[in-house]
Amino acid sequence: MPIFSYGCAVFLQSDIVNFQRQGWRPDEILAGLAAVLPKNVFLYVAGVSNVARLGRSFLLQGGTQRNLAVVKAEVDFLRSHFFAEGDPEVRVHPNCGEAGAIGAALQAIQQYEPSRPTAFIGLDRLDDIRYTITRNESTRCTFCTNRCSRTFIDVEASTSASDGAGAHQQRIIVASCERGQAMDAAAAREVNASLATIRNATPCVPSLAGREIWAVSQQPSAFASIRRMPWIRRDPSSRNGALRIGIPKVLNIYSYAPLFTAYLTSLGIPADHITFSDTTTLAQFRDAIGFAAVDPCFPSKVCIAHVLNLLNKSRTKHALDYVFFPMIDSVPSSLHGCAGCNACPAGAATPEAVKAAFSTSRDWFAQARVRYLNPVLDLSNRSLFALQMFECWHDILGMNWKENAFAVDAAFHAQQKFEDRMRRASRELLDDLERKNRVGLVLLGRPYHHDPGLNQGILDAFQDLGYPVLSQSYLPLDSELLERLFGDEVAQGITESPLDISDVWKNSTSANTNQKIWAAKFAARHPNLIPVELSNFKCGHDAFVSGVIEQIVESSGKPYFCFRDLDENKPLASMRIRIETMHHFLAQYTSRLSLGST
Ligand code: SF4
Ligand code: SF4
Repeated sequence: MPIFSYGCAVFLQSDIVNFQRQGWRPDEILAGLAAVLPKNVFLYVAGVSNVARLGRSFLLQGGTQRNLAVVKAEVDFLRSHFFAEGDPEVRVHPNCGEAGAIGAALQAIQQYEPSRPTAFIGLDRLDDIRYTITRNESTRCTFCTNRCSRTFIDVEASTSASDGAGAHQQRIIVASCERGQAMDAAAAREVNASLATIRNATPCVPSLAGREIWAVSQQPSAFASIRRMPWIRRDPSSRNGALRIGIPKVLNIYSYAPLFTAYLTSLGIPADHITFSDTTTLAQFRDAIGFAAVDPCFPSKVCIAHVLNLLNKSRTKHALDYVFFPMIDSVPSSLHGCAGCNACPAGAATPEAVKAAFSTSRDWFAQARVRYLNPVLDLSNRSLFALQMFECWHDILGMNWKENAFAVDAAFHAQQKFEDRMRRASRELLDDLERKNRVGLVLLGRPYHHDPGLNQGILDAFQDLGYPVLSQSYLPLDSELLERLFGDEVAQGITESPLDISDVWKNSTSANTNQKIWAAKFAARHPNLIPVELSNFKCGHDAFVSGVIEQIVESSGKPYFCFRDLDENKPLASMRIRIETMHHFLAQYTSRLSLGST
């Protein structure tokens, strides 16, 4: 049989086409599919690489188990993980096709309260229900520019004598979002208003940071504060006032925009002459698809779309003189004792790949009269950073070394101010959760997961369900709070400080990964917080740490929630099911929290 690589079903589909071309027979291809299924279930979906860790007894459920080729493949797969200890016990549920429904019924019994009213019409009247399903252009949603397809299910059921015998009609709308389920524009406006109320009462720090980090404030001028060298005759600040610079809203710039904008404005670039690309959208990504030569993770390949967006802005609005897209090699870290604080190499090299995409067959920058600047920058080493920025900008902005040093100070000051503000917002939110005994979530994700186009709206969906969200990037660092969470471990010598991750992670060279692990520890120790991990398809860094994070979270007795393999595809239906399932577990955790049993 052909050997399939496990992973997303979309790739299995293209493997099938390839195997057909190679001459494999249908039964051979089906055998290959059966063989890969357990790998997809355990390794890809459940993310459990050490299956033996789950125990020795396995119950296979779901309609797929009616296919005995699949059952055989699963038994073989499970046995292969218990080589030394003898075979595990594997059973197939006698009603495997209905086992999920039986589980749902058992949950309903557990949650049923006798006094609770029910809308269930009773088993005997279910047979009388009639329905029609419509999904065509007439049902398409027009409440926003996405114009999603919707399904209308028109249900008719007879009502009981006690409700006045007759027919009851109801339309159920299956749509991509809550607004799309509204019957008409007025109802959609009501949904909008109620969501706005919920969002105001349920802060989401990643969204706040993702919006506010792009606000550029005019800094004090380096040229005014430093006495000019006698040989510089012209006034660079007035010349720089005419320059326009574009910066893509991508990768680590999602964390360090204040640093770059403060540097530039203090050297005379007016705040409104700094243009950012637009927030990621699928349409923007599709516009740039022809430029991509390689296929890395989505956060990296979307950068081409952002630079194209800047070039388009330059053509249609104010012409840009420069596009600044630095290769960020290292970033500052507040953690202690880590082996390094490097940025992801795939992300760091992306500006060079983008340059190649726009200049290999034709020079798009020259055509747009834009110069592309992609210096290597080490933000973790301030003196080196000052030198790198000086080399990049001194010919363009005409500043001397002292003015550069002033701008670097202004840059780090602005960056600190922004981070302090976000940490204060996070602390207020955390205090509020503690006061009200509520549960909040912590995003374990990279800085660009603050971009709604990259986080696929997952954080908004949790916010709409009433869960405030914190970000791993801006967790509060107040000493009294850290003492409360980590003090015992430091006292016992397990870690050297509250900001040490050496007890769980030794290969601590990647700054964002280190931060993710520390944030998982933080959330695992705080009773009011539950972490949610976001990770992208083809992310080499996350492939290493997801297991560690899962262990950190589960060892604290909390559920581990993750959305892996995010990319440009947005599987709305499956995502909603997962969010609703997580909501169910979060509700259970919340009730345990209010009973004081966490
Ligand atoms: S279903 Fe939601 S996202 Fe889709 S068009 Fe309607 S309002 Fe927009
Ligand atoms: S950390 Fe992962 S998702 Fe981010 S740029 Fe690197 S490989 Fe891509």
